[in-house]
Amino acid sequence: MGLHRSERCPTCRHRDSGVPMTSSAVIELDGVTRSFGAGHTKTTALDAISLTVMPGEFVAIIGPSGSGKSTLLNILGLLDRSSGGRYLLNGVDVQSLSERDRDRVRNETLGFVFQDSRMLLMDTAAGNASLGLKVRGTPRVDRATRVGAALRRLGLTHRMGETAINLSGGERQRVAIARAMATEPAVILADEPTGALDSKNSESIISHLRELNRQGVTVVVITHDRTVADAADRRVEIVDGVIVADSGAATSKSATAAAEAPAPQNRRPSFAVRLWDEFCDALSVHSSKPARALLLLTAFMLGAGGLVCSIGISESAAAQVTERLTQASLDEVVVRSASGTAFADGFYYADGSASAAINGLEGVRSSGFVASVAAAEARITLLPSGSVPNQPAFDGSVVVADAGYLGAQQVTAAPAHAVGLLSADWGARVALIGEGAAENLGIASVGPGAQIWVDGSAVDIVGVITDTGRKAALREAIVLSPAALGTLTPDDVSLVVRTVPGYPAALAEAIPLAVAPGDPAQVRVETVADLRNLRFGVATDLGTLVGIVSVLLLLLASMSSAIAMYLSVQARSSEIALRRALGASRGSVWRVFTMEGLVIGAAGGVSGAALGVCAVVIVCVLQGWTPTLSPSVLLLGLVAGCVSGICSATYPAIVAARADPAIAIRG
Ligand code: ADP
Repeated sequence: MGLHRSERCPTCRHRDSGVPMTSSAVIELDGVTRSFGAGHTKTTALDAISLTVMPGEFVAIIGPSGSGKSTLLNILGLLDRSSGGRYLLNGVDVQSLSERDRDRVRNETLGFVFQDSRMLLMDTAAGNASLGLKVRGTPRVDRATRVGAALRRLGLTHRMGETAINLSGGERQRVAIARAMATEPAVILADEPTGALDSKNSESIISHLRELNRQGVTVVVITHDRTVADAADRRVEIVDGVIVADSGAATSKSATAAAEAPAPQNRRPSFAVRLWDEFCDALSVHSSKPARALLLLTAFMLGAGGLVCSIGISESAAAQVTERLTQASLDEVVVRSASGTAFADGFYYADGSASAAINGLEGVRSSGFVASVAAAEARITLLPSGSVPNQPAFDGSVVVADAGYLGAQQVTAAPAHAVGLLSADWGARVALIGEGAAENLGIASVGPGAQIWVDGSAVDIVGVITDTGRKAALREAIVLSPAALGTLTPDDVSLVVRTVPGYPAALAEAIPLAVAPGDPAQVRVETVADLRNLRFGVATDLGTLVGIVSVLLLLLASMSSAIAMYLSVQARSSEIALRRALGASRGSVWRVFTMEGLVIGAAGGVSGAALGVCAVVIVCVLQGWTPTLSPSVLLLGLVAGCVSGICSATYPAIVAARADPAIAIRG
């Protein structure tokens, strides 16, 4: 039989559930069997047990170890299902209820007291006592009232705010009774409640159970303790899964008291209250274990921070590229041959006539020749090749340029006149060297007579580049004069033209006619504005790359957190069992752990986003860039933290939710 959410629990007393009651007994077992395993490993823990408990009875179940007492209690407590027979709780056959309904019945009808009290050690006495009501979704104010009353009755008002870890064994057990009482159950099931206590505390627990029983609560207690058994109205002895003795049913006094017991004041469970409680629980779990929380937080913070930082840096770098390109697009064009080297050979460096034609146009400030040569082809060495065995060749960038190009790019050198020595008209075989390239070649200083060897011929180094102007890459380059090129074949030959700002578009049309009036199609002119389109490609590629790295970082963070969370689930099996015993559904257990992941992930995401922003600002300041970060990246940090938090908690949460309460409760 299933229950609809809006229906009330059919097993709770004093309710008009519309479900026919088959008996006035609160517990009715008829031929209940429970066996484990199969074949030759089969164990029969309970063998056709029949037992009837009337409302208001105080029953002690006694028997030697291994006789089946805990198995019986698990079945009575709906933590386990029997293999055969019938179990009616308040007249309802609970065997046929769905798992959810059994959870609800457990929460609303049954209260548990275990041998080891099963406290959440870092929570307060009041927090522990309210756990059953939390599981039920009772609003906070109601909860406080009921828990306050329960703790008062157990003489623990002064200890309400004390953390469970600081309570004595007897106090913890009294809190456990208060926890069971607070939900106003019809039946309290106690498993060796005095097993871990001294005689004084045992007496106190027995008297509290008796008091509860006098008020009408049915008490079923499993015990080895003679005093507890003697305090009960009825003793049921079980041996090898069979009831061998039963001292008889309750007196009419208890039954009368049961009829007068107050009706439970259960309100309709609120999912929002439960969710909020689960959120608060997640917070308190983390605050009670700060070292573990800090480790998890660091993992998520690094993941989310890495993501924000890499996206921020790539955005800032892309913005920087755009700025430079935009600047260049205002006053620079590049002229190339449309048909291969013939044009280049003819005009660029042979006689400089193309430059001369361009320089005559309106709006042109200066122009110059530039080409690159593969380092392997140039074979640049410090000494003549063959003079020293295994002499390393220069492996940096080799640029061929004239003075016009260097001037157009605002490059300066020491000595200052050295740039002019690269003039095409001059025809000297000379070179300028960037500071980085000088280090690369092992040149400490450049003085008169300094030379390098280019493709087997000596070339004078006439100066060192002191300011790379608009071409930062020249720091690592050797710049050869056009005449120093010898027989080398240059790649990517072009003329770079600096213009008056705003002239590039007009000059793009005028230059081909000026340079090759007979065949302007031979000349191709690119304004740098065209190159700006490249930015999008570059930014996309860069974005994809950093995206992959960041996602890998996040995955690593999630994996390490998942391992930590999984270990924590293992360590908290007792708490999970307790929550299940108090009626928490599998879904609720799953939510508790997922919420923990979400909370720590969100905290890691926020702190990671802050860390990422700081890192972006630092990198940009060091690079001289303007930090560029869209606000959505900060949100992304938070979302990434939350998602990775939830993902890392998913498997541990499933493991926790799947735990079998009957096995977990045995510890
Ligand atoms: P008691 O509580 O009286 O000590 P139990 O109810 O724990 O006894 O166990 C009764 C019998 O059932 C024992 O032989 C025990 O080994 C067996 N048993 C209990 N639970 C399981 C289980 N999950 N799997 C296999 N055997 C079990």
